[in-house]
Amino acid sequence: MKVGFIGAGNMAGAIVRGAAGKAVAPQDVVVSSLHGRSAQALAAETGVAAASDNLEVVERVGPGGLVVLAVKPHLVAEVVPPLRDALAAQGSLVASLAAGLTLPTLESLLPDGQAVVRVMPNVNALVGAGMAAVCGNAATTEDQVRSVVALFESVGAATVLPERLFPAYAAVAGSAPAWSALFVEALARAAVKNGMPKAQAVSIAAQMLLGTARTLLETDTAPTQLADMVSSPGGTTIAGTVALEDAGFSAAVARCVQAAIDRDRELA
Ligand code: NAD
Repeated sequence: MKVGFIGAGNMAGAIVRGAAGKAVAPQDVVVSSLHGRSAQALAAETGVAAASDNLEVVERVGPGGLVVLAVKPHLVAEVVPPLRDALAAQGSLVASLAAGLTLPTLESLLPDGQAVVRVMPNVNALVGAGMAAVCGNAATTEDQVRSVVALFESVGAATVLPERLFPAYAAVAGSAPAWSALFVEALARAAVKNGMPKAQAVSIAAQMLLGTARTLLETDTAPTQLADMVSSPGGTTIAGTVALEDAGFSAAVARCVQAAIDRDRELA
């Protein structure tokens, strides 16, 4: 499948670096950017092609291909209209990465009957450990949705999710890297208070988070099971857990996730 990217910034760059030569052959990928510079740099680095403009991306992708909208959300309404005729003529699949832009909004900008997939990647795609949610509109086929999932699996994990669950997903996968980073910072600060150098504390806490995530995923262990495994009766971990819950940890996390979901609905 040929894949074109409109926009060659952080997210398009992460996907192209992860997918070119694996999920897709470099010669089947074409990218464009506002002034062409980031597209040319990405092309030089990865062996994909740089197009001189967005229309060329749609034309080079052709029927059966995938056009990924990888510009900032506020630019989608500006970028898509000049491509409508070419998209209608080519019949390519469109995928949008734009945070907050729903399938109905995307459909209102695209040609009638256009197959479009909404994808919500997260920042960890930059290191090949991302999480992406994928939802196709009524015009997409299962194969088309699967091909988009496969593309995003080249930079981490990807799952098909109904659009009504995107706000909860956005909190847990999109915003939670920020909250997890703040958790690492809080752990590190507490270690500094007890004499550990800050840089060392941050790298120890971050490695702990990485390892905990891998243990949960790779050994299919439930979070409470893992907590029980390291909580000896009368020991240090359970003392910390009781103090953490006494300070309202679970309730604070629930409020944090709900605030993000409520804000997402306000912005929609
Ligand atoms: P970015 O600012 O790094 O890149 C944007 C790219 O768009 C640049 O290459 C720029 O040259 C190009 N561009 C701007 N105007 C253009 C135009 N008229 N025609 C063609 N190209 C144009 O942005 P990003 O972080 O890569 O985000 C891209 C999309 O991915 C956004 O919609 C964002 O919501 C979504 N997203 C990003 C992340 C993330 O972690 N970066 C996470 C989730 C979703």
